[in-house]
Amino acid sequence: MEGESIVSLTERPELFIGGRWVRSRETRRVEVRNPATGAYVGSAALASTADIDDAVAAARASFDSGVWADTPPERRAAVLHRAADLLEARAPELAGLITSELGCPIWFSERAHVPNPIRHLRYYADLAKDFSYDEHRSDGANTSIVTQVPVGVVAAITPWNGPLSTPALKVAPALAAGCSVVLKQPPETPLSAYNLADALTEAGLPDGVLNIVPADRAEGAYLVNHPQVDKVAFTGSSAAGRKIMADCAERIARVTLELGGKSAAIILDDADVDKVVPALLPMAFMVNGQACIAQTRLLVPRSRKDEIVDAFARAISDQRVGDPADPATMIGPMVSRRQQERVEGYIATGRSEGARVVVGGERPRLPSELAGGWFVAPTLLSDVHNSMRVAQEEIFGPVLAVIDYGSDEEAVAIANDSVYGLSGSVWSGDDGRALAVARRMRTGMVSLNGRPQAFGTPFGGFKQSGVGREMGPEGFRAYLETMSIAVGS
Ligand code: NAD
Repeated sequence: MEGESIVSLTERPELFIGGRWVRSRETRRVEVRNPATGAYVGSAALASTADIDDAVAAARASFDSGVWADTPPERRAAVLHRAADLLEARAPELAGLITSELGCPIWFSERAHVPNPIRHLRYYADLAKDFSYDEHRSDGANTSIVTQVPVGVVAAITPWNGPLSTPALKVAPALAAGCSVVLKQPPETPLSAYNLADALTEAGLPDGVLNIVPADRAEGAYLVNHPQVDKVAFTGSSAAGRKIMADCAERIARVTLELGGKSAAIILDDADVDKVVPALLPMAFMVNGQACIAQTRLLVPRSRKDEIVDAFARAISDQRVGDPADPATMIGPMVSRRQQERVEGYIATGRSEGARVVVGGERPRLPSELAGGWFVAPTLLSDVHNSMRVAQEEIFGPVLAVIDYGSDEEAVAIANDSVYGLSGSVWSGDDGRALAVARRMRTGMVSLNGRPQAFGTPFGGFKQSGVGREMGPEGFRAYLETMSIAVGS
């Protein structure tokens, strides 16, 4: 019934607008299917443009009233901390939900998709509490207060490959900064992000400050173009990002973009291949290869190519493909049939361009209960040239391309010969040498020998991988405007 609380984690027949559960005006619905089995998972309402209007109006009213923006940062922080605690208490259920919605292996949901959003909420709560919003600046004759204020109403638009973590990466800093948010979830994975609404509402977030409306692309574009939206925070493909940036340009709306990648793993000639392979594969096959930061171009020294290709081929053949709910599974299905067909299309393209399929390249043989799943076998393409489409375009599946090089200079040149610049890695027995190579890469984030980024460091890309940064203080400033107030002489 309208206005009542949720039925279950998997049945979300209403939209979350203005602090209430409301029926979609066109009563459109999407069914979520488990990508591994095709089994029914649950369903969610899909928003129409009229619902988007309602959500933006609720966000606008809450922002303009000052009910949240004028709440002292330490009280906002307390709400975010409480919400983080509530999510943590539901961690096992949430991990199961994400895995059944997205098909990503349960171990990854447990270790990344659930703890990361909780960590983002806590991190931005503390950052907002301790942040220095006002600075008095004087030139000797005049004094101004330079102050940081919330940017206003934020449209957060997210893809399916991080159903809870990507929304949290926008919602946490935006709310910490005092903004109001309309979050548009994709129809593939509409369910998990509603847990942010559940937890934040229970934690005391005022009505209208967070609104969640799963919707299709057209309604997403309507939201981007809404005159009452001050800022668009987008994660998704570079194709959509280009369109969104152009739309925002029309009214000079603030925009940050986290887009695609085709990241290079440069394996230097002194790297220990026995250490590289097990450390690199999880970085390449994260979320079944459907990760923007996946290391998908393996740049290998020509002198050691055969040895390295063999080592990767053996390890890839050993990757356990199967039900993502099984803790032993390393590679689950693609999120949808469309994505499965897209990845298979790229493997065919690679073959026709002259790449050699060393392992994979077809659908894996799996037990009958997984026959309806959208699986692609993990695939290694060798003899790839960087000009091929499989080296230049984002495949977004478990497909790696091996490209050989002669010198460190050539490796850097190949790594940088991309329209993308999101992530990358350098593998070497000598950290100093690896660092020198890393500094020459034109990309937003580089790992030396597989080390993870420190929490609180910026996430984002060069070139067509995006504009702006998320995470860290950089990700907080993205939700603030700078204002100068002349106060005297
Ligand atoms: P997509 O760009 O098609 O869709 C992403 C989201 O944007 C969805 O909610 C979609 O409905 C919406 N959307 C699409 N076109 C829109 C438009 N014109 N206006 C408003 N909203 C629009 O991407 P996808 O297929 O859902 O996700 C995969 C892509 O996301 C990959 O390219 C991947 O690299 C990228 N991605 C990037 C990051 C990052 O942080 N850089 C993280 C995850 C995914």
